[in-house]
Amino acid sequence: MSQAGPQPLFPLFLDLRQRRVLVVGGGTVAARKVAALLDAGADVALVAPTLEPSLEALVRAGRVALLGAEFRPEQLDAAWLVVAATDAVEVNRILADAAHARQRWVNVVDDAQLASAQIPARVQRGPLQIAISSGGAAPMLARHLRERLELQFDDAFGALAQLFTELRDRIRTRLADLPTRRDFFQRALSGPTLAQLRRGDAIGARRSLEAELRNPPAVLRGRVALVGAGPGDPGLLTLRALRLLNEADVILHDRLVSAAVMAMARRDAERIEVGKRVGEDHDATQQRIHARMIELALAGKRVVRLKGGDPFVFGRGGEELQALRAHGIDCEVVPGITAAVACAAYAGIPLTHRDHARSLQLLTASTRSGAAEHDWGALAKSGQTLAFYMGASGLARLRDRLLDNGLPATTPAALVENGSLPQQRVLAAPLIDLPELAQTHAVQAPALLIVGEVAALATSLHWFGSPPITPERGRCRNSELARAA
Ligand code: SAH
Repeated sequence: MSQAGPQPLFPLFLDLRQRRVLVVGGGTVAARKVAALLDAGADVALVAPTLEPSLEALVRAGRVALLGAEFRPEQLDAAWLVVAATDAVEVNRILADAAHARQRWVNVVDDAQLASAQIPARVQRGPLQIAISSGGAAPMLARHLRERLELQFDDAFGALAQLFTELRDRIRTRLADLPTRRDFFQRALSGPTLAQLRRGDAIGARRSLEAELRNPPAVLRGRVALVGAGPGDPGLLTLRALRLLNEADVILHDRLVSAAVMAMARRDAERIEVGKRVGEDHDATQQRIHARMIELALAGKRVVRLKGGDPFVFGRGGEELQALRAHGIDCEVVPGITAAVACAAYAGIPLTHRDHARSLQLLTASTRSGAAEHDWGALAKSGQTLAFYMGASGLARLRDRLLDNGLPATTPAALVENGSLPQQRVLAAPLIDLPELAQTHAVQAPALLIVGEVAALATSLHWFGSPPITPERGRCRNSELARAA
């Protein structure tokens, strides 16, 4: 029975102990399958006209039953599973048909079309197994993956799994409910046990696990991590952010956090979008978020508060941390790559450069009460880079303030929309022309404005996505007028 189209196979691990598996074939391929089946404790019965030496030895030792030289359908009756390991396609086909007529699963070695069951490539570490399937589409790929996993998971994982098996009953009685148990495993994995096993210190490893078991935290304490999700490309998450996303019970995220980043989180974590609601003001939103985090943490949840970019850069992370601390809640902060840093990198704009800029300022273009005020005179000085957040809509005003305060009209500027995401766009122009260019191209939030000599480098240093959009010749009247003046 072939599996049609791209329908993925259903993975399953079988307990074959003392269950009859019928293997048809007597060559080296059959011998390999028989060995693996015996390892799993199966009761192997063999059908083959001739046997290669290792199989013959097994039959002689009584470890494998030889049913006969030729396959007969009634041999299927006692079998749970059938392995066709002959090199005769016709025999394999007859066998597969007969097995399927009796609703037996059949693995046909090297023939995914005839088979209803496939034996995956696997990585085995004690009781721990990782099985890999490409659904018959690309066995080489599955093998390649296996080799990589072999490197990634050393023998310590097998030893750890073995330890967990030995302590299983004690773990269950001592830590009756699932959240405390999950917490225990988490602590066990991040504690010294694996390292001890790697050093070959099995006794020490067991002791540290037992210590964890004897003294579980009195009450399961919830905690909150303020985590920076970066600008959108999941490759820009930190390893710590990734680990926390994998451990979280609940994730409170902003609308700005990309779907690709959310896809990295634990599947059964509860996800709650906590962006501003229609008709709600910013302060009410913020109060609601604080209350939600506190409530969840007090209920013992591991909460990840996931924010675009960095939590402490225009992210109100400071206020959130204050609220959490005021309620005595365990907190940690994981920095993220902030929009200025990410957009600059992905647009090919070095934020500082020995020839162009010796300082960088992160600024907001707007506040909750409208356009932000700054010391415009200081911002208009040369030799620095300005990165404006939240400036997509107030661009013309920003430009006017800077130019009115003495910044040269031809100062290079760049606007990066959806930085680091596949749909990233970069607009590069003299500051005086940028607002019109942005309007022409209907730039929308999120967008970051970079002002300063370094912005001119985008045209030569860009490497990601499409080249920067620049004003058409003859249409940048503003800057030409300015130059003439
Ligand atoms: N804490 C965030 C900033 C939040 S304020 C950080 O550290 O990046 C929201 C502003 O960030 C947006 O208005 C925009 O100016 C900027 N921003 C966030 N993500 C962006 C992205 N992918 N591309 C361009 N700008 C972005």
